[in-house]
Amino acid sequence: MKLTSDLHVVGGGYFGFGLSGHLDCHVFLLNSGGELALIDPGMGAPGDFDTILDNIRADGLDPRKIRKLILTHYHCDHIGAAAEAQQKLDVEVYASAIAAPAIRTGDERAVALDAAKAANFYPDDYVLPPCPVDVELHEGDVVTVGNLQLETFDTPGHCDGHLSFLMRGGDRSYLLGADLVFWGGKVLWQNIHDCRIDAYASSMFKMEQHDFDALVPGHLQISLRGGKVHLEAAAEAFRQLGIPPNLL
Ligand SMILES: [Zn+2]
Repeated sequence: MKLTSDLHVVGGGYFGFGLSGHLDCHVFLLNSGGELALIDPGMGAPGDFDTILDNIRADGLDPRKIRKLILTHYHCDHIGAAAEAQQKLDVEVYASAIAAPAIRTGDERAVALDAAKAANFYPDDYVLPPCPVDVELHEGDVVTVGNLQLETFDTPGHCDGHLSFLMRGGDRSYLLGADLVFWGGKVLWQNIHDCRIDAYASSMFKMEQHDFDALVPGHLQISLRGGKVHLEAAAEAFRQLGIPPNLL
């Protein structure tokens, strides 16, 4: 589904547009200058990544032109399909240097899959397939996709190793924020080992220093203009020593 000349949403489940697997995050395709890149391939239940490939073709794009797979953070609804995507598309995989070890080993505890299974979020028999990481990202690194530049920001709080990207060079500026902040200034708190209020606040204040048009989160509504108001609302809640409302 084409959102702008730069951005398609090609997957997502119950907390998205029902384009692919039930638990899939929004799966985004970047399209610039003949190059394609995929952001977070979803959870990877059997058959669901093929549905995402079908959605890409239905948008008139060739999945074989995808050369980069960019992972925002290691939660399974975002990266469970990474290994399958890497194998089927032979892409270069980009992830945070902090998250990379757990992604390479499929470390269930590090990514809080054990806790998520105990909460019945994922089936008991779900396994996170290990996925190679080719490029470890650090704050300030810039990933290019055609004419687009994605500047990397460390934004922990939702979990350790969480990245957000400011994307410029297209028809507007975008915050690819994953699970940093959502419509209405909501955030995504979870009772897991690496979800931290102080880090979440610092990440929000850091991203508040930057202007952007579109807020492109990992779930729920996407704001193509004026998206920064949602981040400002969350930052204001933190400034008042409170915590922003939870998405769940
Ligand atoms: Zn998450």
